[in-house]
Amino acid sequence: MTHPHSVKDTRCLIHPEREAAALCLSCGQYFCRECVTEHKGKVLCTLCLNKEKDSTARKRRLPRLIRAGLAIITGLIVCYILFYSLGTVLSLITDAFH
Ligand SMILES: [Zn+2]
Ligand SMILES: [Zn+2]
Repeated sequence: MTHPHSVKDTRCLIHPEREAAALCLSCGQYFCRECVTEHKGKVLCTLCLNKEKDSTARKRRLPRLIRAGLAIITGLIVCYILFYSLGTVLSLITDAFH
């Protein structure tokens, strides 16, 4: 049985002395077994995996505005609770005086 697109003739992009074992689904380059990793069910080379990690890290860093908004809301809630408890304490004190 012959493979028209056999990876036997191809070499790893990073290790030219090694036979390619897998094809990166992202960049379409051949890599040896050591250079590819399965990531979320996809076979990716180290370079593409790093890119993927970068993009996910960037995605995680993106909602800065949301986090800032959450911080403001949390601050407001804390202030509200503080003022509310302060008001309760003050009303208790004034009640005690009556
Ligand atoms: Zn790749
Ligand atoms: Zn390699």
